[in-house]
Amino acid sequence: MKKDFYEILGITKSADAGEIKKAYRKKAIEFHPDKNPGNAEAEEKFKAAAEAYEVLGDPQKKAKYDQYGHQAFDGSGGFGGGHGGMNMDDIFSQFGDIFGSAFGGGGGGFSGFGGGGGGQRRVKGSNLRIKVKLTLEEIANGVDKKVKVKRKVQASGVSYKTCSTCNGQGQVMRVTNTILGRMQSATTCTTCGGSGQILDGKPANADAQGLIVEDETVSIKIPAGVAEGMQLKVANKGNEAPGSNSIPGDLIVVIEELEHETLKREGENLHLDLYISFAEAVLGVSKDINAVNGKVRIKLEEGIQSGKILRLKGKGIPSINGYGNGDLLVHVNVWTPKTLNKEQKQFFEKNLTDENFTPNPEKSDKSFFEKVKDMFS
Ligand SMILES: [Zn+2]
Repeated sequence: MKKDFYEILGITKSADAGEIKKAYRKKAIEFHPDKNPGNAEAEEKFKAAAEAYEVLGDPQKKAKYDQYGHQAFDGSGGFGGGHGGMNMDDIFSQFGDIFGSAFGGGGGGFSGFGGGGGGQRRVKGSNLRIKVKLTLEEIANGVDKKVKVKRKVQASGVSYKTCSTCNGQGQVMRVTNTILGRMQSATTCTTCGGSGQILDGKPANADAQGLIVEDETVSIKIPAGVAEGMQLKVANKGNEAPGSNSIPGDLIVVIEELEHETLKREGENLHLDLYISFAEAVLGVSKDINAVNGKVRIKLEEGIQSGKILRLKGKGIPSINGYGNGDLLVHVNVWTPKTLNKEQKQFFEKNLTDENFTPNPEKSDKSFFEKVKDMFS
């Protein structure tokens, strides 16, 4: 179900044009991508608010929406076109009208554009990627990591001026002749790369864009439960771009999981092979095992079978979404002695046909396959 446009903007149906505009302005500022970098939910809300305003901000569309609801805009419902598929450019072009000069020249604290008219967007620097190796312990607990990155940043003393090719618009109009006649289209200005600015002055050590490479230590908060290959984004810690109104790219952190000495990971669960002696299996024993966060004492009952799997609830890896922990599955392996002294040999020979030493799986534990079945049911 599509959410009600009035609800999205937080207003009632009796709201007048001024109130609608004010409500949209508030939502757009609250959920603006520059204020919520990397926040997909905010972006959705930002888009939803723009979509709602596109309709409610237009008296004709509003009347139709009031009468027919969302149906008025689906498929053949009259307005067709752009509705529902608004992209960021559409939304930003809407801003010229609603925010007026607030966005121009940096006065409003927003970055979507510089010039104030609409077309120009802030140029974003390129992303940087870095791999971070984590132990299983770090993954289980979450960890703050400091990484060294080489970033391109604007050199101190660099200055930029308005691009004369596009007059700071970031776009140039191109006219092409087609069979339908002359078509005009806007393309990104190649002189300034769309930023609307070009280099004015720079220190000698800077490159042609006024950038220098700097070493920077970046702190990364890695949540518990990450896995091999996962990517975390640290907003604005990538390369800077030229221009006074550009925004830096992002730092993409790729997780690498180091192999653990004894624990094997399978999703959120951990597996451990435990070896006990034949005597321990016969007599029963308490064992300290190394779980991911220190030792855990477990008790093995007398007569435990090799192949038995003990499940230690919650001793696995936390879910990345925060929904509890996986388990630690301890696989019991009975170690059979390879050499025996004379006395031991005589003991086993004497008991070779003893009833107590004769396998009787029906009477004892479930078979391995039944245990596996239990584990997954
Ligand atoms: Zn230009």
